[in-house]
Amino acid sequence: MTTNIRHAASTELLPELTRLGEHDAIPYYGNLIGGKPRPAVDEAVMASTNPARPTQILGYVPASGAADIEAAVAAAHAAFPGWRDTPAPQRGQILARIAERLHAHRDGLGRLVSREMGKVYDEARGYDVRGAAALAEYMSGEGRRFTGVTSPSETPGRMGFTLREPIGVVGLITPWNLPVLTPGQKIIGAIMCGNTVVLKPAEDTPLTALLLAEIFQEAGVPDGVVNVVTGRGGEAGQALVAHPGVDMISFTGSTAAGRTIGGVAGSLLKRVSLELGGKNAIVVLDDADVQLAVDGAVWGGYASNGQRCTASSRIVVDRRVAAEFTDSFVARVRALRVGDPLIEGVQVGPLVNQAALDKVDSYTRIGLSQGAELLTGGRPVPDAAGGYYYQPTVLGNVAPTDRVAQEEIFGPTVSITVVDDEDEALQVANGTEYGLSMAVYTRDASRGLAWVHRMEAGMVYLNAPTIGAEVQFPFGGIKNTGNGHRETGPSVIEQFTEVKSVYLDYSGQLQRTGFTLD
Ligand code: NAP
Repeated sequence: MTTNIRHAASTELLPELTRLGEHDAIPYYGNLIGGKPRPAVDEAVMASTNPARPTQILGYVPASGAADIEAAVAAAHAAFPGWRDTPAPQRGQILARIAERLHAHRDGLGRLVSREMGKVYDEARGYDVRGAAALAEYMSGEGRRFTGVTSPSETPGRMGFTLREPIGVVGLITPWNLPVLTPGQKIIGAIMCGNTVVLKPAEDTPLTALLLAEIFQEAGVPDGVVNVVTGRGGEAGQALVAHPGVDMISFTGSTAAGRTIGGVAGSLLKRVSLELGGKNAIVVLDDADVQLAVDGAVWGGYASNGQRCTASSRIVVDRRVAAEFTDSFVARVRALRVGDPLIEGVQVGPLVNQAALDKVDSYTRIGLSQGAELLTGGRPVPDAAGGYYYQPTVLGNVAPTDRVAQEEIFGPTVSITVVDDEDEALQVANGTEYGLSMAVYTRDASRGLAWVHRMEAGMVYLNAPTIGAEVQFPFGGIKNTGNGHRETGPSVIEQFTEVKSVYLDYSGQLQRTGFTLD
């Protein structure tokens, strides 16, 4: 394998992937460490496959372990002083070039996302890649702000202010569902603040991560500032979290993995940022524009096949409009076109892998066993190529405490719970362990604003579904969705910097602070 290693350069990778299936040679891509492609130290490999045609191997990548993490952390440390000392406006200029390169590679990167994790091409190109480009644009300006605080000193002849400084080497661990935007937003935020990073992407989307890092290099990010080590969470991921040379862990993924990672990183006194699961509700009040709510529920529930942390997986609807909403919603869901995500007009692609397909199907059975009614869907879609397709599914008559209303399914399954009044709607909507995103539909702006205050979520929407976050606003949740950090928007700076308080005394004498006000 090592003799066959190739750099996952964007110019090479994209034509290679578009030709797959037409020739025998399956490319092998190395980790990106210190700007160079490297195989795993023990030469172990794993395959990245196409969920629409699971026998199609898109490429091989290293199945890395602790030794590879060691090398990547060393490269990140070596690059750190130079990057830290690069003036923030210059780092911002590189981010502007990253934005430009991401826009230039939107089609190819979008196609790779569709191939590797099954999201329809328009969403891959339009939201995932474009979102990362938009964040790079936004953060490039931050290079000329990067502001601190100045306050008057209580002591004469003295002034004080704060500086923002990078934390050091940041370990990034990401899931597969937004394989450009999530690694992209972490890398962009971390390097803007002067940190260097080691990314361990999800094992289902390693090629996208490698290509993303190549694009960053193409934009002028120096060697060693962004390192990528592919592999499994239980091996490369755990090694990254436990490595003493990693100063911070920024993790996005399931609440279960977040608890473990938060525990290990916390015991090592590392800063740890956790962006975890969601069980997001759309609330349809009795005065809602019902058709607008149906539009929102279809988009929020089934975009990316329901595989978004912010997916609208629960509908909480007032009994007075429940029949109208449900009839229209179910008809629209039945009409969704399922198929290969690269075919134009397809609205729902395959799930990411067999385990996801099994999980989604098992939740249909769990829902039915607890008394839910299957309104549409509920079965895998037979496919000659073995693609992991599942029928867009609606479960009605779901009680708020049912498992399908409480647990994250992460697939094309939406549950409907009917409530009698607004108080019950709020109680049901807020009644899960998660607090990521929530939406309310009402024609009454005052009522909507009251809901804005009462919804327990980090992001709330009025008359729009629970997906659709924009990069200039903080992204993240409360309760078991995270540990209080926010990604994107100005909050990125808080996440990825240390604050240093600076006192300058120009009085020429010892001044005992605290005594000067007596
Ligand atoms: P996951 O199983 O938690 O995995 C996420 C990442 O962590 C993967 O790279 C995984 O590696 C790695 N990992 C797993 N266990 C680990 C451990 N003990 N130590 C170190 N690394 C570990 O989540 P997923 O299934 O990929 O993604 C879906 C989840 O992400 C959902 O819960 C979704 O809500 C959440 N999510 C949250 C947000 C947000 O911003 N709040 C955004 C997107 C997704 P492998 O790939 O090898 O398993």
